[in-house]
Amino acid sequence: MLVLGIESSCDETGVALVETAATGLPRLAAHALHSQIAMHQAYGGVVPELASRDHIRRVLPLAQAVFDEAGKRLADVDVVAYTRGPGLAGALLVGAGVACALGAALGKPVLGVHHLEGHLLSPFLSADAPEFPFVALLVSGGHTQLMRVDGVGRYEILGETIDDAAGEAFDKSAKLMGLPYPGGPWLAQLAEQGDPTAFKLPRPLLHSGDLDFSFAGLKTAVLTQARKLGDDLQARKADLAASTQAAIIEVLLKKSLAALERTGLQRLVVAGGVGANRVLRTQLNAACARRKVRVHYPELHLCTDNGAMIAMAAAMRLQAGMQQPTEVYAFDVKPRWPLDMLDTLGAVAA
Ligand code: ATP
Ligand code: MG
Ligand code: FE
Repeated sequence: MLVLGIESSCDETGVALVETAATGLPRLAAHALHSQIAMHQAYGGVVPELASRDHIRRVLPLAQAVFDEAGKRLADVDVVAYTRGPGLAGALLVGAGVACALGAALGKPVLGVHHLEGHLLSPFLSADAPEFPFVALLVSGGHTQLMRVDGVGRYEILGETIDDAAGEAFDKSAKLMGLPYPGGPWLAQLAEQGDPTAFKLPRPLLHSGDLDFSFAGLKTAVLTQARKLGDDLQARKADLAASTQAAIIEVLLKKSLAALERTGLQRLVVAGGVGANRVLRTQLNAACARRKVRVHYPELHLCTDNGAMIAMAAAMRLQAGMQQPTEVYAFDVKPRWPLDMLDTLGAVAA
């Protein structure tokens, strides 16, 4: 079965083709991506209207590139998958609209995918794919969650952020330091030259005894520190970046280890944009090796948004018999959609 996947929830247009197999995991046939980062950078963040318009411009040329690369034709597609939510309503509507139009024109069913399930299952696209069950640390621009994952669609949230996401903490701190949008990768790069112990910053909820996170206070502490530095900020920026990164990572690391301990599981899967962070990976790898825990990541270029993870999540849901695609071509995107509400909303209402 050939699944076409379309991602358009925020500022990346992604298209991919994934093929299911009789046995084993679905396989990525081709994927293409256009990031709008350069377009939004002048505004310091995503401008929703510009994002929607750019998705419209990009999605069909990207689809053409994917079919060319895979040596497939539109008529070969069995199911058209798209990101149904969560995300920006207008941006989501572009992907849903194109997917439903293609489905209706081809006489093929469509399947709406949860964006976070896409991130969560993206490590299955890598050569070192995980096996169920595992603990998942989902660290993206808008979400920070620890989950127990027993299979496709079987997700139990163990803890999550009560305010900002880890990616947001990176991005907002980076903005305070005058770094471009999105600040995560820039802050990480600057931190390479800094001393992570230079500034004492809070580790919110580190000893809370639960698996929840909080990053809003950290951002305020970074702001206070930046103001205190005044004219010296420029000279101490790398130290502040390294200290901020260290604070975020320590919390992510300790809570992930606590989730492993609590569940008794020996496998950790990290997904989402922050999962690309080199220091996070190094520290998690070391801590997990000491505990004989296997840790899996998406390939670096598939940590942030892409079409491959959407096509893959759809293919895995279909293969697991978790969801039937539908020939009801409804534009029912879900801008707000908690992952633990996935099953109750799995089917598209007629
Ligand atoms: P969500 O998936 O929650 O809707 P999103 O799609 O915006 O949010 P992702 O695409 O998964 O999030 O990831 C983007 C985030 O990852 C941004 O906050 C970005 O700064 C962060 N990020 C990317 N690379 C790195 C890195 N090397 N270090 C730290 N953060 C990073
Ligand atoms: Mg993005
Ligand atoms: Fe995302």
